[in-house]
Amino acid sequence: MPTSHTAAPPEPSVCPSCAAALTSDERYPAWCPGCEWNLSPVVAPAADLSARQRRAAEREWEAQADALALARRRAEQVYGVVAAGAGPREDRTWIAAMVLAGVVHLVTVGLLAGSVALQFVDSWPLRVVGWLGLAFAVVLRPRLGRLPDDGSVLRRAAAPALYALVDRVAAAVGTGPVDVIRVTDEFNASFGRVGLGRRSVLTLGLPLWEALGDGQRLALLGHELGHDVNGDHRSGRWLGSAISTLTQWWYVTQPVHHGDRSGMLTDSVQEIANLGQRIANLAMACGNWLVGLLLGLLERLTSRSGQGAEYRADAIAARVASSSDTEGLLRTLLLSGSAATVQARLRSLSGVRQSSHAAGVAGFWAAFTAELASVPPQETERLLRLSVRELSGVDSSHPPTYLRIRMLGHRPVPAPALVVAPEEAAAIEAELAPLRLRIARELLA
Ligand SMILES: [Zn+2]
Ligand SMILES: [Zn+2]
Repeated sequence: MPTSHTAAPPEPSVCPSCAAALTSDERYPAWCPGCEWNLSPVVAPAADLSARQRRAAEREWEAQADALALARRRAEQVYGVVAAGAGPREDRTWIAAMVLAGVVHLVTVGLLAGSVALQFVDSWPLRVVGWLGLAFAVVLRPRLGRLPDDGSVLRRAAAPALYALVDRVAAAVGTGPVDVIRVTDEFNASFGRVGLGRRSVLTLGLPLWEALGDGQRLALLGHELGHDVNGDHRSGRWLGSAISTLTQWWYVTQPVHHGDRSGMLTDSVQEIANLGQRIANLAMACGNWLVGLLLGLLERLTSRSGQGAEYRADAIAARVASSSDTEGLLRTLLLSGSAATVQARLRSLSGVRQSSHAAGVAGFWAAFTAELASVPPQETERLLRLSVRELSGVDSSHPPTYLRIRMLGHRPVPAPALVVAPEEAAAIEAELAPLRLRIARELLA
């Protein structure tokens, strides 16, 4: 059980646990770097729990702690293997994932072939089943992804300087020029390939981009484009489409609950209908459980190679932009929660001053980046230590941030392969100006 972390310090500048002096900022939780008091502010459990509820809560807490300990052992094991110099070929678990993906594709092909064969049977009920099977096969077909139609695409002609920089990073990383750059309102970035032509798509979240310095932006581009050459099997066609097919299966097999049909049907018909529905739901639930199990298994089989791939993408970023800029990028990525809070604060401020809304939009990015830059170092340190305790990565597909930073220190790269010239940075800034205005307006709306 968590010890009580909720008591306020008796004296604002002194740790109630070890009496060390604290530096605190009223915008962020106070905590103690010496003894980690209040590292993760815990909500006090309801006082009026019965003994049984308390035991249940304790069991849940222990189960969570066990799962966390196991996840940490696994993450540190992957770290050890990668730090010892293992490349993508040393990991074998992904082969099992590829086989499993093959089984998923075989089921889809079998369904399609069986449904087509049924069309040639001389029995209309079987032909109807065949048509249903065909419809299923269409829903479950392997999907290759496509470009979202949300106005986020930045054309090459509209941003030649940004594309030129990305092309430069791509060449340094050892991959081809990117086909499409998207700019979104997220505090994140990603790289992927879509469609039959496997067009490469680089997605840059403007709030993250704006919060980074030039070197850190290079590191971001290096990491994302590094995903094209780091041997990440999850983004491959074979595995990626199997995961998307299984996800469709999972949706299709969700048990449905029909509305009450009493009144429309006689009692005995109603009973038969209810029984039929119950049996169908049971079968769906079993299928759904099985699909969930397979998805979980695929995730387990690929997470090891996926985490290895993330470390390799970080190493590529360090080569392009230096280890210290890559570490700066990772520390900034820890601030996604703070970024959301700052955005909410600016939104409520602009709501209060409706008359000066235009001024709010114009000043949004300056205010946003200034507030993020003013996040005190002890808050970043708290988030980093939380990533040790709670194993929080940027998201579940990445290794925990403390291990990524430790890996960067393992083989430091002092000098960057590329630098951004001031006039290049200014040209990119000018190209992004219309998007800065549009996205600020969206975030403030
Ligand atoms: Zn303390
Ligand atoms: Zn990544």
